[in-house]
Amino acid sequence: MARHTADRLAALRAKLLEAECDAFVGLAPPDNQYLTGFTGTTSAVLVTQDTAEFLCDSRYTEQAESQVSGYDVQEVSGSVPVRLGERLDALGVGKPSFDPAYLSVAQLEAIQETTKASLTPVPGVVSLLRAVKSPDEIARIREASRLAEGVLADLLGTLTAGLTERELAASFEYEFKRRGARGASFDTIALFGARSSLPHGEPDGTPLSSGDAVLLDFGCRLDGYCSDLTRTYAYDTIPGAWFETIYEVVLEAQRAALKAVRPGIECRKLDAVARDVIAEAGYGERFGHGLGHGVGIEVHEGPRLGKESETVLEEGMVVTIEPGIYVPGQGGVRIEDLVAVTSDGCEPLCGAPKTLKVL
Ligand code: ZN
Ligand code: ZN
Repeated sequence: MARHTADRLAALRAKLLEAECDAFVGLAPPDNQYLTGFTGTTSAVLVTQDTAEFLCDSRYTEQAESQVSGYDVQEVSGSVPVRLGERLDALGVGKPSFDPAYLSVAQLEAIQETTKASLTPVPGVVSLLRAVKSPDEIARIREASRLAEGVLADLLGTLTAGLTERELAASFEYEFKRRGARGASFDTIALFGARSSLPHGEPDGTPLSSGDAVLLDFGCRLDGYCSDLTRTYAYDTIPGAWFETIYEVVLEAQRAALKAVRPGIECRKLDAVARDVIAEAGYGERFGHGLGHGVGIEVHEGPRLGKESETVLEEGMVVTIEPGIYVPGQGGVRIEDLVAVTSDGCEPLCGAPKTLKVL
């Protein structure tokens, strides 16, 4: 069994004792990838203190046999949740845990109708383990980030007037795959001009023109792990003094937050460091979203860096720091970096320059 598989099983079993549950059941690909190494989309994991079972249907048996170690791999037919319920009774499990954020109501009902066991919600049972990364996981996230940054560096030189947002987003996603990634870690955001005020706008047929803000938020999935990065530029000429002003405020807010990242800080306090800089500059109402989020097997995972997050940062967590200011009708600026929390601060996992650049 791979060492990390054994470590993760041991950590999960300790968590089950703490939660007073005698098993864990999981149907969600991210948790199942973390526990077993399997990267397919349909599987079930059932872990007790003495057993570890992995169920999949015939489409995935060959893949599971090469990826999954340390688990008893079983090929099943029909409904995977129903088979999972049957295994609970076969093993005599009484109180299995599941994560309510990672099991649908339909899946829960299918398992519960099959078994006598009493399924018990334990929020974050596996995802809280996932939040603290191993050096190997951090290295994979760094590689995903490097690949995406390489695409950014090459595509910036190709921007021409008339290119549409959708064309540019498509180029990112094509290049991710061409360079070895599984694909984008989320739908690429490329927004020009006033549309950059939409924090998560969808690229459309808007053509690039002189004096546009260019907001690019993108990432790829490589070797099972995601990256996430945002940069904002000006095309041909600065859109106006307002743009330079908000760019400097966002950059200052981001620098202040990056400096404050360390183990032991509450996520809501870190969020406040950036939020205060933006509010003092008079743009408090224009920064609506949280400061950042964890990145790993999923592009958005724990911890959440928001106004209400009481989670405390720990060494090994990987998070984004992404303040923004969005002025409707004019445009927006967001600057997002990916960092790993170290023993006394943080280590950047990306290196794309951040000084205001006119393309
Ligand atoms: Zn992003
Ligand atoms: Zn992000």
